[in-house]
Amino acid sequence: MGRVFSCGYDDVMTASGSPKNDGLIARWRLNTILSTAPSAVIMTTLRATGWGVAAAIAIAVSVASWPVRADEASGCQNPPAQRALDTNWPINIGQLAQQLVAYRCTDYMKDVAAAVAQADDWVRQRAPQVDNAAVVLDIDETSLSNWEAIYHDHFAYFADGSCDLGAKIACGWRDWFLSARAIALSPTLDFFRMVKTLSDRNGGKVAVFFVTGRRDEPGMRAATEDNLRKQGYDGWERLYLRPTASPGFVSGYKTDIRKDIEQNYKIIANLGDQYSDLIGDPGNDHAEKCFKLPNPFYFLPPDLPAAGLKCLSR
Ligand SMILES: [Mg+2]
Repeated sequence: MGRVFSCGYDDVMTASGSPKNDGLIARWRLNTILSTAPSAVIMTTLRATGWGVAAAIAIAVSVASWPVRADEASGCQNPPAQRALDTNWPINIGQLAQQLVAYRCTDYMKDVAAAVAQADDWVRQRAPQVDNAAVVLDIDETSLSNWEAIYHDHFAYFADGSCDLGAKIACGWRDWFLSARAIALSPTLDFFRMVKTLSDRNGGKVAVFFVTGRRDEPGMRAATEDNLRKQGYDGWERLYLRPTASPGFVSGYKTDIRKDIEQNYKIIANLGDQYSDLIGDPGNDHAEKCFKLPNPFYFLPPDLPAAGLKCLSR
């Protein structure tokens, strides 16, 4: 039998102002599940209901080796069957989590690939038309997958503490990040490598910037760079980490970074798994086009504005 975990993320906790508000954080996560639009049956079912959520997840899962392919990811050797959930009642959070594992092991990578393919088409077309073209990539669940930690922690989040995936205790995400063991999302890695082959209108290489909400604390930059390089990413223009003192939603920080990039570049594409990666100022997303990757596993506010985003609709 699994354990009962509290939930939370650094950025979520900053945004909430209530680091211990597990119910709110869980609701954010499950609102993401309800609002994200991958193709799995579970997502259609979930979107048809509205309900409150419990503040904890308890599921029995086991830990396995590092994934390279989807079927090698933890939980995917013998994944739960995909099934529709009973929407006559508030969805059982244990069954919901099982369906997220099923999704991860089936349609998730296809949905990531489909989103990245749209960016691929656009960047190939647009880069030769502009001077000083740039592409912005988020890292977690966009360029690198933290699935092993997500699965081990049963979709909960623990900022602190050690991370031993072979132990039946929670994995702390700071330690997880510092271990540099996240796995490349292969569609994004292929996209990164493709972008590096492109030239813009003035014949220069298209610059790739990583903009992450990971905090710029001791060891994090080196570990993140090490993780990216070990997974095949190399030759980026600059890696931005969020200052430890940066307050508020992560979207504000990321918008400021894109403004900084725009001092010297034209951002033709911005890719992220959260809307907070893509949201800019009202009327200016600070990217010509943006591309949302699926992530039903956790949610960082803010959500998609009611008016949508211009960068998504072009
Ligand atoms: Mg991310």
